[in-house]
Amino acid sequence: LQLEAIKYEKMQVVSQLAASMSHEVRNPLTTVKGFLQLINENPADAPTNTELSKIAVSEIDRATEVINQYLNFAKPHPDREVDVDVTREISHTQEIIMPLAVNKGITVEAELLHQHSIKGDPNKLQQVLINVMKNGIEAMESGGALEICSYEEDGMLCIIIKDNGIGMTKEQITRLGEPYYSLKGKNGTGLGMMTVFQLVDGMNGTVRVVSKKNRGTSIILSFPISCRVYEKETKVM
Ligand code: ADP
Ligand code: MG
Repeated sequence: LQLEAIKYEKMQVVSQLAASMSHEVRNPLTTVKGFLQLINENPADAPTNTELSKIAVSEIDRATEVINQYLNFAKPHPDREVDVDVTREISHTQEIIMPLAVNKGITVEAELLHQHSIKGDPNKLQQVLINVMKNGIEAMESGGALEICSYEEDGMLCIIIKDNGIGMTKEQITRLGEPYYSLKGKNGTGLGMMTVFQLVDGMNGTVRVVSKKNRGTSIILSFPISCRVYEKETKVM
């Protein structure tokens, strides 16, 4: 009976994983589709198209990486752990979600003063940032601003992603990250924040949510810092 129960639980985990994997693969596919459409609309604009196709290729790589992560699940090998340049990942994610924002008259601003690194897998951090930024954009119905900034606090690197969208009630905040919890009907899967919580946890980080109904939401991610490099070195001669 106990074996049955374990087997059932494993099946549950695997089916949840499969669902979140298809969700994570759909994000880059949507980007690639959007970029191909842009290229199609303006075939003569070679410089822009080169840039767009570069991002499209890296998005396909990301989709492949997500599938690999899934296939490697439960294999006894350690996670990829490298120094992740957070500033770079934020800028890259900003590029990826830009078409989504532009379509809705939303501005995306990132204030990145310092260069910070954390330990982890750059692909996973990208997945986290994309899911959170996408939610921010989807929360703003009639234009608005998505603001991203990063700073250091008590040896932790914090990334704030702030929108001035529909916001959440206390009850909604509590349910955030529950599998399949979504208020977007057929436009949502309710798997984005579940993935965010899991991935951030895997990087020894935390997720804080500050939100007010009809005012907006700030998602604050914190991670242990592995090293910090100042943009401008101040030398005393
Ligand atoms: P999905 O986006 O597919 O609905 P998520 O797990 O990403 O699933 O988010 C779950 C739900 O949490 C959303 O449907 C939405 O109701 C709420 N939510 C998430 N982020 C925000 C946000 N920035 N502002 C308002 N509501 C949000
Ligand atoms: Mg989402």
